[in-house]
Amino acid sequence: MLQQWAPLDYRKVREAIGKVIDHLEQGHTEPLMLEGAHRSFYYTPGEPIIEPRGSERLKCWECGKRFEWTVEEQDRFRMRGWNPPKRCESCREERQKQREAWLWE
Ligand SMILES: [Zn+2]
Repeated sequence: MLQQWAPLDYRKVREAIGKVIDHLEQGHTEPLMLEGAHRSFYYTPGEPIIEPRGSERLKCWECGKRFEWTVEEQDRFRMRGWNPPKRCESCREERQKQREAWLWE
């Protein structure tokens, strides 16, 4: 599945880089909005191009449901050096509640 996405994303990234080059050749200095593979991102002249990242689809260990791991969450986890989440949000909430209930007993 991921292998099928790779060439597609790559082509879109290349397309986006082409747009950035055109943008710069025309002498624009305002940020350029680009359509990324998964989401739109901005290119600001003078700043490095950041490859667009999308949310990841993860499978919950507990209920087996697929859930989305957003880019914001990915950053938060990476910043704290955490491993990717193993459970979906509802299972995580459930666990949190159980833990709190146990603390209050
Ligand atoms: Zn779950």
